[in-house]
Amino acid sequence: MLDLLPEQTRRWQAVESVTRDHFHRAGLQEIRTPLLELTELFARGIGEATDVVGKEMYTFVDRGGRSCTLRPEGTASVVRAALQNGLLSQGPQRLWYSGPMFRYERPQAGRQRQFHQVGVEFLGVSSPRSDAEVIALAWALLADLGVQGLVLEINSLGTVEDRKNYRGELVKWLEARSEKLDDDSRKRLYTNPLRILDSKNPATKALLEDSPTLLETLSEESKARFTELQGDLKALHIPFHLNPHLVRGLDYYCHTAFEITSDQLGAQATVCGGGRYDGLVEQLGGPSTPAIGWALGMERLILVLEAAASADSSGQAARLTAATRPDLYLVNRGERAERAALVIAHQLRAAGLVVELDGSGAAFAKQFKRADRSRAPWALVIGDDEIEKGEGRLKRLKGAAPEADQTSIDQLQPLDDLIGLVRLLRD
Ligand code: ATP
Ligand code: MG
Repeated sequence: MLDLLPEQTRRWQAVESVTRDHFHRAGLQEIRTPLLELTELFARGIGEATDVVGKEMYTFVDRGGRSCTLRPEGTASVVRAALQNGLLSQGPQRLWYSGPMFRYERPQAGRQRQFHQVGVEFLGVSSPRSDAEVIALAWALLADLGVQGLVLEINSLGTVEDRKNYRGELVKWLEARSEKLDDDSRKRLYTNPLRILDSKNPATKALLEDSPTLLETLSEESKARFTELQGDLKALHIPFHLNPHLVRGLDYYCHTAFEITSDQLGAQATVCGGGRYDGLVEQLGGPSTPAIGWALGMERLILVLEAAASADSSGQAARLTAATRPDLYLVNRGERAERAALVIAHQLRAAGLVVELDGSGAAFAKQFKRADRSRAPWALVIGDDEIEKGEGRLKRLKGAAPEADQTSIDQLQPLDDLIGLVRLLRD
């Protein structure tokens, strides 16, 4: 589990603000649920057979003897909250959430035990158009962040019926080749054969290249739905690849499944994953409710954003991740000067300026070094001499304009005319 230091937090905040803005414009509302849920919610909502529930959860018994779990993902909690608070009876819900998730996995680049997701859930919407809208939301957000080299992969899982037909065919095909399967996959052959398609084992991957695909087995209705989605994505100019191996193992997933991956991330390539889960709400005790959503990993997004920023120093990603600079650095020294500087900083901040007040009492030369490092365009210098004259010295700083001739643009600034100063700094 990692600390986010100020330098990194700044980048996260930039991403979070773009994200919030996108969701706002798309009419989504934020929902915030507790980090802790009853274990049973995830056992039912994600499934005992999954790695997440089977091996990765932080579970403990609380003082009341209840089994509790730190949430490993957001969807189950959002559905629980919507059910418990009667949101579904108020019509379709377009929700988003963000926050820490917990999974006991092997930590490595792009994989932590506490990580963060931003997610979207549309509850009560069934049209294939909503699948396209949900995907477009993720795509537009990532594009707006200036993230490069992303690939959208889509698949259709069809209906429960479609998958039952396909499962039979796949098991037959794999049984004939079972000596070529890795141990994990052989175990899954009868418990969850579709998950084998998702295997990361290179030999298994190669073997599966010629396997029958679910797409070929889909009913006409499911095929038509998938074609409709592809038409929508084309109309939106969102490029995509068909990936018949993109699956989710659980029965409540259906039709659209998608992933957005980046070649910058090594093995942990998936930035965003999602799909339709028409059976989940019912599985958690609610009325039959169609639904679709996605979740995006913040740590991985930040990694690709940083890669984009260093590849193009004047691009959108670089602009977003750049440190903000104060409008003014207040250099001050001497007892009266320090009090005056404190008051001036307070007043200028109230007027909306970003003011960094040097509180060190150090020699002027030291303070100027720090002022340059702050990248503020201006320093206002106040010593006891300046207080005596009632005038501070406004100095153009190197950090902002290294090429500027600094001595020529120093000016005196009456300390009782802060309005003039505010106006000057704003321009
Ligand atoms: P993976 O195949 O990488 O384990 P997943 O299928 O477990 O991903 P989801 O449960 O769909 O992932 O979560 C959505 C996104 O959350 C992932 O695409 C990824 O960006 C991020 N994510 C999942 N697990 C972690 C983790 N342990 N550390 C950091 N990010 C994660
Ligand atoms: Mg995982």
